[in-house]
Amino acid sequence: MGKIIGIDLGTTNSVACYIEHGEPRVIINEEGARLTPSIVGFSKDGDRFVGDIAKRQLLMYPENTIHSIKRFMGRRVGEVRSEASKVAYAVVDLGEEKVGVEVGGKAYTPQQISAFILQKVKKSAEDFLGEPVEQAVVTVPAYFDDRQRQATKDAGRIAGLDVLRIINEPTAAALAYTIRRKKAATIAVYDFGGGTFDISILDVDADVAEVRATAGNNHLGGNDIDNRLVDWLASEFKKANGIDISQDRMVRQRLLEAAEKAKMDLSTAMETEIHLPFLTADESGPKHLQTVLSRAAFEFLVEDLLRLTIDECSKALSESRLAPSQINEVIMVGGSSRIPKVQEMVKQLFIGCPLNKSFNPDEVVAVGAAVQAGMLGGSVQDVTLLDVTNFSLGIEVEGRRYARLIPKGSTVPVVRSQMVSTVVDNQKTVKIHVLQGEEQLAKDNISLGDFELTEIQAAPRGVPRVEVTFTIDTDGIVNVAAKDKLTGASQGLTIHSPSGMSQKAIDDARAELEAMEEADDFTREMQDLRNRVEKQLFGLESFLRDSKLSLKKREIFDTEQALKRGRMALVKKADSDALQELSQYLVNYQDHLQQRVDADAVDDVGSISLMSPGE
Ligand code: AMP
Repeated sequence: MGKIIGIDLGTTNSVACYIEHGEPRVIINEEGARLTPSIVGFSKDGDRFVGDIAKRQLLMYPENTIHSIKRFMGRRVGEVRSEASKVAYAVVDLGEEKVGVEVGGKAYTPQQISAFILQKVKKSAEDFLGEPVEQAVVTVPAYFDDRQRQATKDAGRIAGLDVLRIINEPTAAALAYTIRRKKAATIAVYDFGGGTFDISILDVDADVAEVRATAGNNHLGGNDIDNRLVDWLASEFKKANGIDISQDRMVRQRLLEAAEKAKMDLSTAMETEIHLPFLTADESGPKHLQTVLSRAAFEFLVEDLLRLTIDECSKALSESRLAPSQINEVIMVGGSSRIPKVQEMVKQLFIGCPLNKSFNPDEVVAVGAAVQAGMLGGSVQDVTLLDVTNFSLGIEVEGRRYARLIPKGSTVPVVRSQMVSTVVDNQKTVKIHVLQGEEQLAKDNISLGDFELTEIQAAPRGVPRVEVTFTIDTDGIVNVAAKDKLTGASQGLTIHSPSGMSQKAIDDARAELEAMEEADDFTREMQDLRNRVEKQLFGLESFLRDSKLSLKKREIFDTEQALKRGRMALVKKADSDALQELSQYLVNYQDHLQQRVDADAVDDVGSISLMSPGE
């Protein structure tokens, strides 16, 4: 069996890790980095870039550069309006409330964009390990619901990765802790990333990690902090110049980059300068932005956002029925946990409890995913993972009410059944409407999907006995089945919510990605070839310069012609065959000249008469 890798598919960055001789190792990507920005960029010609290269074009082509796609995974159009307004690329409705992004007239699902990122991570892992990688454990925020988990699995399948297990990010962090510490403790994992916040409280031991409670907010992360700073910068700019720049997408992107940088600086410095020359212009000329932001002012601006994370921590604490003093350690995870004010607030809540910053907050989740992968592959001793559901699940019942079958906080995997019956005499069909949430009325909860059980035997109302069974597997994915106890007729579904993808849609997306992969390989080969020819032309040019004195007139002329022809071929974008031929010609031609010049030199040497010693 090939290696199973662990992947933290993050809002901002993705990280892959595997276990070697019991030790986690972070995979270095093709650019030599441990983190791969979760960014996909498209060029005007339709070329696709993932990671650092895409990040570099974010400022120049914000409309063509997709970042933070995780915020759109498994969501419906109505749920993402606010997120959509904050990104420079186009977020579109693909029908049936499905969210898509559109670049250069082509629409992509969030699953496809995530698949591009996963494909890059997969390829880096394959290059790094020197073997094919087909299986992975992928992490998701604990607060990802069924639809978001399904979407993550589908992204894996599109990328050609069999996602063996989906695990919650904080639980992954706890696993990383477990294998390193191997001692019993009650820990809190405070995970504040780019787009989401999660807090989990767990009991860990050398061989069990049991989640006691989780809470969080999957609309809250470092991006919100950046956006808050952008709004502040825009309002300061308006005060100073009377120009409203908040609606200009290109300007907003520049402000965003500056805001994120300033925020990061303030995690170590007490003050930072933000300088954006030529931000915009009016009749009086160009306008620049220059301001100083102190740590205190930054904290004042974003304190309410940070406070929201603390509120979630309090919720998780009360759900776990533990006092803050009963927590042994708080593990700080996610890039935003580096903010000093965050650390101060967490310390204030968990009084006397040490903050564990010994794990790299960017990597600890991927390490945990690799531990889980190692357990599945047999290279790591099993730690029993007892995770819990973060939402209640149930069905719609008479009176448009909601009956909870699996309450929030149940340990997964879990199976629960409930008997239901008909509401009118001789009713042949019952509709099972599956819901997720905590509200009393069906309409106030999230609809995960529905199906019908037909062929119920005719009987007075209330007599048929239909057993509805909910199963939540270890990935947190929901299956629902209904069975008429009398006739044995049964129906079921793995929740395919409106944002879920059918097998055909996944296969199509996979085929498209493979075709793009081929096109990418071709583009890469062409780039290499053009590069090679360019280098050969430079080589020939310097040869001409250095050997001009040894060359005949005709040879100089021919060489100049060869250089011209070569440059023209590059400018005119000659095809692969022509470039191959040209490259071969250049090699042969320069070899031939070199040999000729060398032979002359030998003749010259031969013509010198040396006196023998003693003469
Ligand atoms: P993650 O999703 O864990 O990769 O976290 C990414 C988020 O962490 C982004 O919003 C970053 O801006 C933020 N981040 C990374 N480093 C720092 C830092 N030194 N100070 C503040 N925020 C940071």
